[in-house]
Amino acid sequence: MKELHSFGWYASKISPHLPKKAFKPVPARLLGGLAYLLVTFSGMYAIATFDLPLLVNLVISLIIGMSFAAMGFLGHEILHGTVVKKAWLRNFLGAVFFWPLVTGPRLWRKWHNMTHHVHTQDEHNDPDTWLTKDKVDKAPLLRFIYRLPFSVRAFFEFLSLSFTFTLHSTRMFFIYVKEFKRAKQWGVWIQFILPWVSWIGLMFFVGIPTWIFIFFLPLLIANSIVMGYISTNHRLNPQVPVNDPLANSLSVTVPKWVNVLHFNFSFHTEHHIFPSMSSKYYPLVKEHIKNNWPHLYHEMPMSSALKALWKTPRIYYKGKELIDPRDNMVYGSLGYGLDHEEIKPRAFMESSSEDHNEKKA
Ligand SMILES: [Zn+2]
Ligand SMILES: [Zn+2]
Repeated sequence: MKELHSFGWYASKISPHLPKKAFKPVPARLLGGLAYLLVTFSGMYAIATFDLPLLVNLVISLIIGMSFAAMGFLGHEILHGTVVKKAWLRNFLGAVFFWPLVTGPRLWRKWHNMTHHVHTQDEHNDPDTWLTKDKVDKAPLLRFIYRLPFSVRAFFEFLSLSFTFTLHSTRMFFIYVKEFKRAKQWGVWIQFILPWVSWIGLMFFVGIPTWIFIFFLPLLIANSIVMGYISTNHRLNPQVPVNDPLANSLSVTVPKWVNVLHFNFSFHTEHHIFPSMSSKYYPLVKEHIKNNWPHLYHEMPMSSALKALWKTPRIYYKGKELIDPRDNMVYGSLGYGLDHEEIKPRAFMESSSEDHNEKKA
């Protein structure tokens, strides 16, 4: 078994080498948010007001969708407290920038900050981790899905990225709303209902065809972009008993201009070590990680990560492996035999699997 360390352990090793300013909020991030708001409103106005050709409407939809996604990345930063410190302002701005993704700030902080970050890749407690073989074996519908041919499953898995964020967020709402104290529940409900009321109200105001271009298509595009990152953040990594970001997270690499547009969301391992630090400083954190633990750090281009996702099944077996129950094949996870350049499964043999993990480790 590999030696695992908590995110606090890594943070304590790196912190002394970082400048003091790295631990301060960066309100200038809001300028980017303002630019996205302007682009979004201008795009919506143009589609609703002018009788534009279909192709132009589609291009504007794409731009609005890209802005929705980027605003979600900013909302994520804001709700970690890395942009403004005042709680009411943080929550207000978080609500504004998560509005397009129809997710309220109280729900997000509970689901993401207090649960996903605290229990990352914990089989039982991380709401974002993927299924285990035990769970699939107990659910007839899942067993049926995983009997479909591999390529069919991969195709639908990728297609579903276009709505998974909204679906998962809605599911999280109904799971977590009950956990808030009674006095706070109404606020969580309002933050869930208001964005939906506004977007559905807009449909009656502008008519369905316009609404499809200014909200529905952009929402699908934004889901695809944010899920492109989210699905590569942890799903190729093992489930681990200690919340070790180097073991359970993957940082993808994207062109520099994409990092600018997406507020450095690609630096996910860095984010799990320092969730309360502005992502502006993650390239610096990355340098320190790569100097100290080059053999433990997982990094690959976004395109390679997506290809690896396509080629591996999405059921965890004993935490470290991914299993395809239809073909009875097992695949390694990152750090446990998965080589994204040459993905090679092996035949599944229940008794030998644990020994295999230990050998790989
Ligand atoms: Zn994460
Ligand atoms: Zn986060």
